[in-house]
Amino acid sequence: MSSGANWTISGVRAALQSKKISAHELAAEFYARIDKRNAELNAYLTLSPERAYGQADRVDAAIACGDTLPALAGVPIAVKDVISTRGVRTTCGSKILENYVPPYDATAVERLERAGVVILGKTNCDEFAMGGSNENSAYGPVHNPHALDRVPGGSSGGSAAVVAAGLAVASLGTDTGGSIRQPASLCGVSGLMPTYGRVSRYGLIAFASSLDKIGPFATNVSDVTSLLSVIAGHDENDSTSAAVPVPNYLEEIEKPIGGLRIGVPEDYFGEGLDLEVKEKVEAGIALLERAGCRRIPLKMPHTDYAVAAYYIIATAEASSNLARYDGVRYGLRVPGATLTEMYRQTREKGFGPEVKRRIMLGTYALSSGYYDAYYLRAQSVRTLVARDFADAFQKVDVIVTPTSPEPAFKIGEKSADPLKMYLADIYTVTGSLAGVPGISIPCGKTRAGLPVGMQVFGPHFREERVLQLARGFEKAGGFGD
Ligand code: GLN
Repeated sequence: MSSGANWTISGVRAALQSKKISAHELAAEFYARIDKRNAELNAYLTLSPERAYGQADRVDAAIACGDTLPALAGVPIAVKDVISTRGVRTTCGSKILENYVPPYDATAVERLERAGVVILGKTNCDEFAMGGSNENSAYGPVHNPHALDRVPGGSSGGSAAVVAAGLAVASLGTDTGGSIRQPASLCGVSGLMPTYGRVSRYGLIAFASSLDKIGPFATNVSDVTSLLSVIAGHDENDSTSAAVPVPNYLEEIEKPIGGLRIGVPEDYFGEGLDLEVKEKVEAGIALLERAGCRRIPLKMPHTDYAVAAYYIIATAEASSNLARYDGVRYGLRVPGATLTEMYRQTREKGFGPEVKRRIMLGTYALSSGYYDAYYLRAQSVRTLVARDFADAFQKVDVIVTPTSPEPAFKIGEKSADPLKMYLADIYTVTGSLAGVPGISIPCGKTRAGLPVGMQVFGPHFREERVLQLARGFEKAGGFGD
């Protein structure tokens, strides 16, 4: 970890208000850190100093005038490169969008900037967020700050790594099947997948529209909560964003956790779970029990089918969403003798192997004759998985599981075997299919020093309960290695 990796949102605020540092100087400090570390981590793809310093100077001017500062004034953050940023290149980790500069900001970005954040740059990720290791980026893998020969997880690997390495105070990622929670777990930071519909997807470049969510990473639960408080809520530009009132999260999370019923599904602790990960998560649950939570054993019988259903639904939606990259309106164009030849060449040269695999899988699952056998059946499984969660939340307040079946693996270890890679998503895709909120929080380290994450799910639109438990875990000393 880089030295001085310990800026938090409240630390930034106190330092700015007491004039220990200006927002401009703070941004410069982060760019100096990035300068030092990014070459080995490959976590930032694009830096946006003009935008960052412009915003920092506005914050400094407000401080000089004695204005009340917005909630996140001067906080340096990073944004995953599938989220649109006006005037700042947004590649989606793909060659096909190598030179794409969006003409508008995603709503989440716009809201954060209105709340004062300083956007340092855009982070590396698996191409179009398809992957669990960041090895599918067209711009090379991200290296885990805890062990450079290991993956940071994916697809939001860059967003997790920059927070873990102290190259941003917080960041935005996206989670379709685990892409916030799993890299948070592998990098030893906290990452929240909000309820589907809680945060606007306007400006998020689509992978699988019924599953995609934007959410925050930070080093602690309060900072995750601060970002959520700003980005949550209805947006008229996204018809799937929900008009559900946003509670005062920062107040809610300080409520004591004594008496909360935590469901522990046996289906998440069986075959394939690394023993050290199991030990750590069990120890985490024991800590919660000592803090007054009640442990309730659960069965979630459709867990085993979730990976298969997820990879049908996600690829089906992806095959449709990615049809727009045809070389006509924006992005890469590779000329061809005919229009069809131009389409073909553009897509052949522009997409990497995993994206092509998924387009083929999804097209197959949606094709006539196979639609009922694959796509419809996967949708039925999705309903059953969602029902597992609904049943569980009749009996418990939250569900606690491991986030990933193993700690960070070596770069290259799984990349030749897509099925192995997909199976590692077993604990995260369930909640994605159900659309419920979930967080991954640090829960100690293995003997080799690799971070382990604990996952907490809550009912739809009950982020405050998930965050309350996570915050309670922190207060009870849950970070202990
Ligand atoms: N690892 C999963 C996948 O490859 C999740 C990706 C995501 O959440 N964007 O699809």
